[in-house]
Amino acid sequence: MALRPRPTIKPWLPKVWRDHETLQIGIDPTDGVLVSGVDAATAIWLTGLDGSRTEAETLADAEAVGLDIATAVRVLSGLSRSGVLLSTPIDTQNLGDAGALLPELVSLIAAHASPLDGGQALTARSRLHIVIDGANRIGVPLGALLAASGVGRLSFLDAEYVRRCDAGVGGLSLEDEGEPRVSAAQHALRRISAMDQSRTVASPQEADLLILCQPWSVHDPLQARGLSDRTAHLAVAVRDGTVVIGPLVLPGRTSCLRCAEMHRTDRDSRWPAVAAQLVAAPNRAVHEPTNVLSTLAAALAAGQVLDHLDGTRVPDVLEATMELRPPDWQLHRRPWPPHADCGCLETSTEHARVAG
Ligand SMILES: [Zn+2]
Repeated sequence: MALRPRPTIKPWLPKVWRDHETLQIGIDPTDGVLVSGVDAATAIWLTGLDGSRTEAETLADAEAVGLDIATAVRVLSGLSRSGVLLSTPIDTQNLGDAGALLPELVSLIAAHASPLDGGQALTARSRLHIVIDGANRIGVPLGALLAASGVGRLSFLDAEYVRRCDAGVGGLSLEDEGEPRVSAAQHALRRISAMDQSRTVASPQEADLLILCQPWSVHDPLQARGLSDRTAHLAVAVRDGTVVIGPLVLPGRTSCLRCAEMHRTDRDSRWPAVAAQLVAAPNRAVHEPTNVLSTLAAALAAGQVLDHLDGTRVPDVLEATMELRPPDWQLHRRPWPPHADCGCLETSTEHARVAG
């Protein structure tokens, strides 16, 4: 019988006692298993199946606690057949901060069904560079979530200074008042991430993703900020009490922000003028999102960003927005297909052809 080199019970499976000698590992019927006849010695031995011990050491442990070797081999074999054991152990050697990132690693292993692929996914996160336009009530908590999830490089674009109304849960603090929002945001990230976010960052145009958290009053926020339209970008906002995530634009492959604005203008010819006035209100403080809405926006956006960059699933916000608002708190997906008059997909095809 071939045992695993380092027997490891999948760490995300809960272990509960059904009675004094029956241990249930996992709750879901698809991956749960019952181990019967578990005495105190077996229970102690099972807790050691965490990947820290080789197969030979595991069997020696069984003997040391008074467990019959044949029984230990039988239990290991049963756990393996049931899919409770990992195919390879979790490698935490390359984690900058194994304690802080372990939950992320476990989640990625579960998503990829492989410790090796999960570990590589976390390493890939550490090499990402994400630029957030807007060190505000949405942008900073969003950056903190991504940094705490293992994203290696995050930088902010913002020319403003911190006001008291910029302080928010998971983001800037009241002590930051008067500081440049960019440096205060980087400080907020250092509170949650062991990653060295102060490393020299590449230009925003070379980022893996640009997240637009500033309200804008023009059709194309990228041009308004002097940014490239060839970088993948995601719009995140709270507009008039509604959390709006998306669309995520993959230039040349999916509809763009201008497409969405053109669809809006088709429905309401005065939309551009209305939108400009909404974000140019004289007292912007009263238009800042509440803490509940800004943290909801940050968390929803972070989930979509990680889905996209990890490659674990197709994000919901490609050619669409996800929208959430009180009082029903139901998540709605609104499609934004390419607009016939925009030409963004055709233009990019020409670029690709020229480049090729
Ligand atoms: Zn377009």
